[in-house]
Amino acid sequence: MRFQAAVLRQTRAPLTIETVETDELAPGDVLVRMQAAGLCHTDLEVIEGQLASPVPIILGHEGAGIVERVGADVHLLTAGDHVVLHWNPHCGHCFYCDRDQPILCETYVAQRPKSCGYDGRVLYKTGDGAPVHNLMYLGAFSQYCVVPAQSAIRVPDALPFDVACLIGCGVMTGVGAVTRIAKLHQGETAMVIGCGAVGLSAVQGARLAGAAQIIAVDLSDEKLAIARAVGATHVINPLREDPVAVVQSLTQGRGADAVFEAAGAPVAFRTSVEAVRPGGQVVWLGKVGINDDLSFRWGSLMQEKRIVRSSYGGARPARDFPLLAEHYLNGELRLEELISRRIGLSEINEGFAALKRGEVIRSVILFDS
Ligand SMILES: [Zn+2]
Ligand SMILES: [Zn+2]
Repeated sequence: MRFQAAVLRQTRAPLTIETVETDELAPGDVLVRMQAAGLCHTDLEVIEGQLASPVPIILGHEGAGIVERVGADVHLLTAGDHVVLHWNPHCGHCFYCDRDQPILCETYVAQRPKSCGYDGRVLYKTGDGAPVHNLMYLGAFSQYCVVPAQSAIRVPDALPFDVACLIGCGVMTGVGAVTRIAKLHQGETAMVIGCGAVGLSAVQGARLAGAAQIIAVDLSDEKLAIARAVGATHVINPLREDPVAVVQSLTQGRGADAVFEAAGAPVAFRTSVEAVRPGGQVVWLGKVGINDDLSFRWGSLMQEKRIVRSSYGGARPARDFPLLAEHYLNGELRLEELISRRIGLSEINEGFAALKRGEVIRSVILFDS
């Protein structure tokens, strides 16, 4: 079977739209006809060479589509099902899976750098038979995607695909950081630093959890306006105000109960630990270069603060994606606000350029446009 995909052939070079092909489906795999895919910073890290991956590779790990065909051993999905893809397939029986930490699954972690199928097979090839890799067991920037059945989560048909795809990475990470990792309580004060897709989702996670005060921080007034629209009660632009001073003034000098870092900047990590109250919870979602050092004022780390770094917001996609879909359909989770542009697959390079310039929250590829 042949189809079009956006392929990265070398780092720091544009993606090329190419014809690729895939063979017969393995018994446990599912073929998904992609409908929408979001452009995430992790894809950009691969393009820029900060996240090492073999090439050529099909990028994209935030996608939604329709099941086209299922392998012989797949019984929970059927052709025509609407699905959101997730990038954390896991074995279910290793040391970490047994400790309810599938994001650390030994098979998942071991296979991931190979950028292939979860069973270790290379799933795609070019017309001349050369292997093509795929990112994070997905490769969503493609008209069709072969995924392990466990990575395709059924969602209601009423959920539009453009918002559905966002649930697969950014929304899950942001909402989950609040509800699954920090377990924020009703009436508490949350602070979110960085109002991209993950941060705006954390703002909404705080609203869903019943936070009394939700303080959003960003250098862009435009993004702060969106944060306010989706639930922030206070917004701070650090170019004009000191976030730590503001959060202390709102909490009798104590600091926020929970702080979520979603900016990926050294100053944001430092602010997160300065702004949290003694005994409070800090969740780091952004990242800096994997070999970079970060420095902190020691006193900012004391007083029983709990600091966690999370990649996927404690995601259990089979549990969480349908719940997030329901929140959207009930009007409790605002996702249109996260989509800055809707583009065709052929516009993907301009989409990444806009993401790098910080102009967009999310550009979403619509495959039928
Ligand atoms: Zn992502
Ligand atoms: Zn495992």
